[in-house]
Amino acid sequence: RKGSVVITGASSGLGLATAKALAESGKWDVIMACRDFLKAERAAKAAGMPKENYTIMHLDLASLDSVRQFVDSFRRSGRPLDALVCNAAVYQPTANEPAFTAEGFELSVGTNHLGHFLLSRLLLEDLNKSDYPSRRLIIVGSITGNTNTLAGNVPPKANLGDMRGLAGGLNGLNSSAMVDGGNFDGAKAYKDSKVCNMLTMQEFHRRFHEETGITFASLYPGCIATTGLFREHIPLFRILFPPFQKYITKGYVSEEESGKRLAQVVSDPSLTKSGVYWSWNKASASFENQLSQEASDPEKARKVWEISEKLVGLA
Ligand code: NDP
Repeated sequence: RKGSVVITGASSGLGLATAKALAESGKWDVIMACRDFLKAERAAKAAGMPKENYTIMHLDLASLDSVRQFVDSFRRSGRPLDALVCNAAVYQPTANEPAFTAEGFELSVGTNHLGHFLLSRLLLEDLNKSDYPSRRLIIVGSITGNTNTLAGNVPPKANLGDMRGLAGGLNGLNSSAMVDGGNFDGAKAYKDSKVCNMLTMQEFHRRFHEETGITFASLYPGCIATTGLFREHIPLFRILFPPFQKYITKGYVSEEESGKRLAQVVSDPSLTKSGVYWSWNKASASFENQLSQEASDPEKARKVWEISEKLVGLA
């Protein structure tokens, strides 16, 4: 049978390119989990995705109620779950003030990390029930959270500190809106959320890989300088960033190529190793990359996991 894969944030950029690659392979039924149904439908049509291989379902990761409703509707649809791709993200590098999710968590960590944390924790049960030969849970990471790389050292650097802000609920009222308890910085909040994503993937691996056989993986898809992720950046940045990545850092990758990379992590028979952070070299060959010290710290991973469980109402 065809595999059944849920991809969050499949209405643009990497998520859309991945949905397209998998739908076109003919081997997957792609569930595009998106907050804007019409936008997703238009994007899928414009990309020429074969109609019989995708379905759009509503999911707003900035609302935990919406996450729970998505899980209910997905289950009611009667589909199996063979792979889950946590891809959606918001990035607010120029925001002066924090924005918040429905539950009052700072928006970047609330959407990118906490929304996906609840979604993946709930859907683990469904993945576990599937009889598909290789079940996978993938959380998209980023190099920007890796302070062991050049790009990860561009200030402001990711740093979760002692997580006092996260423990306080990131609400900007009686706690800071930042994980480490510091002053709000939108670019740092995004990087922190990506570190939480990578720590969560590893904690999933430690807790559930042996018992379930599910593959847990993360990846850095390359710098996709043309996606909507940079939509809130200043105009000059948006003009200069793609050529800068193409000719100077040479980390540039097209949306199509990045989608093929993530599609490999979903379905390539050779990428079944669990607990791995995949990257690609200049010849576009995949390799197991090293994470920064903070992004691979098991103590931090456990702490992110335990605090997040409380915040999303699982503990
Ligand atoms: P885009 O902005 O193009 O795509 C982000 C997607 O997330 C969109 O579909 C967006 O929906 C969706 N989204 C945002 N908020 C929510 C929400 N509350 N609920 C549901 N969906 C939401 O960015 P990219 O494709 O670049 O980013 C995809 C992933 O790739 C992210 O995890 C990012 O961190 C990662 N990444 C990107 C890199 C790059 O260079 N671009 C580099 C490394 C990692 P909508 O269309 O409605 O806005």
